[in-house]
Amino acid sequence: MSDLNDAISDRRRQTRSSVYHYLYQSPEPRSKQDISRDLNLSLPTVYQNVSELLDAGLIEYAGTSQSAGGRPAMQLRILPGARCAIGISITGHRLRFAATDLSREEIAYKDLRHSLNVEDEGYSEFVAQQLENFIDENHIDRNRILGVGISIAGIILPEIFTVLYAPTLYIRNLSLKALIDAIPYSVFPGNDASSGGFAEWFGSEKRESIAFLSLAEGVGGAVLVNGDQYVGNNYRSGEFGHMCVEWDGLPCSCGRKGCLEAYCSAKRLSTDLGITLPEFFSGLENGNEDYAALWEDFKKHLVIGLHNIRMTLDCDIVLGGYLTEYLKPYIGELQEMLAETDPFDRECHYLRISRYSKDSSMLGVALTFIRDFLNSI
Ligand SMILES: [Zn+2]
Repeated sequence: MSDLNDAISDRRRQTRSSVYHYLYQSPEPRSKQDISRDLNLSLPTVYQNVSELLDAGLIEYAGTSQSAGGRPAMQLRILPGARCAIGISITGHRLRFAATDLSREEIAYKDLRHSLNVEDEGYSEFVAQQLENFIDENHIDRNRILGVGISIAGIILPEIFTVLYAPTLYIRNLSLKALIDAIPYSVFPGNDASSGGFAEWFGSEKRESIAFLSLAEGVGGAVLVNGDQYVGNNYRSGEFGHMCVEWDGLPCSCGRKGCLEAYCSAKRLSTDLGITLPEFFSGLENGNEDYAALWEDFKKHLVIGLHNIRMTLDCDIVLGGYLTEYLKPYIGELQEMLAETDPFDRECHYLRISRYSKDSSMLGVALTFIRDFLNSI
């Protein structure tokens, strides 16, 4: 008996899910008649499911349109703001917040500099308070928050809330328990590059496997196969930053020489020169010869790294991380340089910039909550 009930409720749930996802994927509002025809459901079944979704606050009426028979038909659409999620990016002396809703677009953003270190006493409470400030400043309804994701540039074991190693934050074996306890929402910690890769995969219509290369203070990456990260045997898959692109080359933060990170980090074009990234790129545009030479070297090594990723994985390569914002004018040139090294493809459109650009890692950790919610409807 209970199996039968389970089967019935499961079937009903699937029908309601199909009605919701039909409206979710439709670029225009649709009528109950459209739903009935396109999903092959009886009108009474459509009425019942629409009524449940309206009661749950997940869809709304969006005016009327003239149907073929002349009678106006009520149009329905999803309510993107019915639920939202927040992502926090933790880097050295900087917190960035981003919120997204069911539309998967960014709805709020904040960048905050501070002087605390991750291991300082009171750091967890500070982050939790800043999160509440962000929620208030952007008038986010707390009842609609599905959860808060935390993005960190390090090797993370989410099951035990521990950061095993984060070289750019100078930490090893850091427990995130105090931070998670200080935040009164569901919390999910994730690696910045794999979160960025997930954002790109989940946010785009093209759901193919991708390699995500994050260019920020450090250089990281992730391999996403059907949306799941290929983690490797030791959680070190996608560590593209430590591929060797120059034997005995520049020293890297990992202690080795010639790594991609040593050549293609945002640091190399900014703090190492005592300037900011906008200053570097405007100097480059204005003909600074030293910057031009450095930029040539940067691109050359980046293309070697991109070529090796493509030859190994045979999938699209998506560039993310905050440096990527400045690479947009140069993407065509990078594709051409890549084509010169590619024995198979003459056009290298498989290289592209993430649709979320600089905010991909925060949105990625937030979007894991959105994905789970959409799957639960
Ligand atoms: Zn290295």
